Amino acid sequence: MTLKLSLSLSISLVLVVLFSIDTARAGYMEVTLLGTGTPKPSIDRFGPSTLIEANGRYFIFDSGRGVSIRLQQAGVALSKIENIFLTHLHSDHISGLSDLWLTSWIWQRQHPLQLTGPVGTLALSQHLELAHQADFSYRTKNTSLNSNFFPILAKEIVSEGIIYQHNGIKITAFLVNHYPVEPAYGYRIDSGEQSIVISGDTSFSENLIKHAKGADLLIHEVAAANSELLAGNPRLQKVISYHTTPKQAGKIFTATEPKAAVFNHVLLFGISERAVLEATRESFNGDVRMGHDLMKIGVGNELIFY
Ligand SMILES: [Zn+2]
Ligand SMILES: [Zn+2]
Repeated sequence: MTLKLSLSLSISLVLVVLFSIDTARAGYMEVTLLGTGTPKPSIDRFGPSTLIEANGRYFIFDSGRGVSIRLQQAGVALSKIENIFLTHLHSDHISGLSDLWLTSWIWQRQHPLQLTGPVGTLALSQHLELAHQADFSYRTKNTSLNSNFFPILAKEIVSEGIIYQHNGIKITAFLVNHYPVEPAYGYRIDSGEQSIVISGDTSFSENLIKHAKGADLLIHEVAAANSELLAGNPRLQKVISYHTTPKQAGKIFTATEPKAAVFNHVLLFGISERAVLEATRESFNGDVRMGHDLMKIGVGNELIFY
């Protein structure tokens, strides 16, 4: 009797442990910052792009310069990419798109590429297909490439809200402030208990704060210039004005309380990364880090930086 009782208790305990491991893993996501740069050509910071792996699926947010190379470096086969989401249509966020789309097709992608973004995404995909018709005809004549996987399945976001919900992964688009770029979106990715928010390009945004509350990880853009440079340069003042300064970022992080905040789209003029982090910490006591290309972050019950 006692033996039976203790056996059944042990089995229950094992089941409880297995169940909790399973639920902890269920929402687990892995982030790779593929590119943390801006329009400025840089060998260290490629164009903006973030990879999120969740539940065996790969999601790309923005497709800036060099995204295919960074995916290769991260050990992710291009053919695995199914979904790309664009925050807005500034060229630095889409200049790697043709490469990723066509090269993944050439490398035997077995499904069409889904592209979701603001109004204008449809025209972008149609024009890309037209621009690459010659390549399409060469490659479909002479190789075993499947012509059905060449067209881009483009979808435009008409209003903010849930734009993807499948296999326990929910992606929500929300409006940010990047005037005159309208609309410009940020994204929130929820998987089980875990959540990640990507700001896209934005100045201080109350709407971002609303959507980023309670997120585990906030990936946010930043822009800063040294005060002397800024004072004599109206063009630079304009550029900075539609991005987020370190001081503003600190306020956003304090209001949203992520487990960690990571900077991407790092746009700096005559100011060091260290100074940016120090300025942010004046209004934020939590964990804030400067992102770098190929930085990996595991988002589970805890955040793990690789
Ligand atoms: Zn940008
Ligand atoms: Zn932009």
